[in-house]
Amino acid sequence: MQHSYWSQELWRLAQALLAGLVLGAITSYWSYSIIIALSGYIAWMLVRIYRIDRWIERGFKRSETPDASGVFENIIGKVHSLKSGKKRSKKMLAKMLRQFTASAAAMPDATVTLNEDFEIQWFNEMAEQLLGLQAPRDIGIRIDNLWRDPAFREFLHDTDINDLNIVSPFDAMVKLQFHKVKYQKDNLLLTARDVSIQERVDSIRREFVSNASHELRTPLTVIRGYLEVMSEDRECTPSVRDKMQTVLEQTTRMELIISELLTLSRLENTSLDSDEGEIMDITAMLEGLARDVVQSGQAEPGQVTVSADATLCLRGISSEIISVCSNLLHNALRHNPPGTTVELAWFRNGADAPCLSVTDEGDGIEERHLPRLTERFYRVDTGRSRDHGGTGLGLAIVKHIVQRHGGHMDISSTTSVGSSFTCCFTPARIVDCVNP
Ligand code: ADP
Repeated sequence: MQHSYWSQELWRLAQALLAGLVLGAITSYWSYSIIIALSGYIAWMLVRIYRIDRWIERGFKRSETPDASGVFENIIGKVHSLKSGKKRSKKMLAKMLRQFTASAAAMPDATVTLNEDFEIQWFNEMAEQLLGLQAPRDIGIRIDNLWRDPAFREFLHDTDINDLNIVSPFDAMVKLQFHKVKYQKDNLLLTARDVSIQERVDSIRREFVSNASHELRTPLTVIRGYLEVMSEDRECTPSVRDKMQTVLEQTTRMELIISELLTLSRLENTSLDSDEGEIMDITAMLEGLARDVVQSGQAEPGQVTVSADATLCLRGISSEIISVCSNLLHNALRHNPPGTTVELAWFRNGADAPCLSVTDEGDGIEERHLPRLTERFYRVDTGRSRDHGGTGLGLAIVKHIVQRHGGHMDISSTTSVGSSFTCCFTPARIVDCVNP
């Protein structure tokens, strides 16, 4: 108890004073006697402090704890409890560190930590298998000195690139997907996973869709030929001719689906260099599209407006960029009530990227559909989309074309307010229309 230690200490001081007084009464030298008694008390205190100081200096081992009483016993007790508390938290930290290292080591992805100079600090077992790293040989080595692949170097140094798919530098049959995350200011956590199987399955799927589409094309052309001849046959009754017309329409629809599936297989996972393509006057193209939909009766005069930066031209594959604009414009007209206004805009955004947006004031799309809109055959209202002649592949095609041109598409929509589809391309594709 704190209080009793101090009263014990005060009691000792009082005893020393009393001894001084007794000595004073015997010798009649009062002040000398009291000074001697108090000096004795102080000397005794100093000896106790010295012992404790030495004990602390030697690492305050329990076995060497000095004999102490009064307030010093209390101090020693507190030092002991602080020491055991520190020992406990040290043990806990060590346990947590062991657990963390074990779980990171057991991760199915290769994991490597790098310092601000890209020097390897730590890696797990999977990194040994997948990336051929060896400890301690590679600890402290710059990772870009180990793999000199230009794409890997660019991925490492460019803060805007967070993912990279490349062929493994150790095994040409293995495709690796790298991902990097910054932590503690400039350190990097690098993960890599083997995506060879996934890539293979993807490529088999693409090949299958492409082959199946090609195979279906020829018989459909033959069917269409016969149907056209038969529907013109005067011996056919009007009822048969009507049915024939429906079959012909469905054949046309199938041909469209096949042609769009083939387009998608061609576009998927391909990219263009930023200097590939023709210089396109997007303003003129948008104005032309707006005129065409009015002339063909798909829109009323004034229903489609164009707001474009005429000085801004784009380098791209013109047939593909036209298909992006045309798909988005036709969707805005097709999926919204007649007469709904549509704005085509062409501008530089805050990040200086050239962007094309198609904004309608239609019914809007519920938020839950937005992340899935660019999936092939995904439709908000399947029946209505088919009635309008939609294949469900338009937005998937748009997404892949924009990605091929180093861009991305954002979709925003509010029900009863309208939707906006914005495609932004890499600034490297900008060409000055005035001084190309
Ligand atoms: P579709 O051939 O059906 O138009 P898309 O891939 O172009 O296929 O579009 C997918 C779905 O997204 C459409 O079926 C439609 O439900 C919805 N959608 C696309 N654009 C719009 C729009 N501007 N307004 C409302 N819904 C839209």
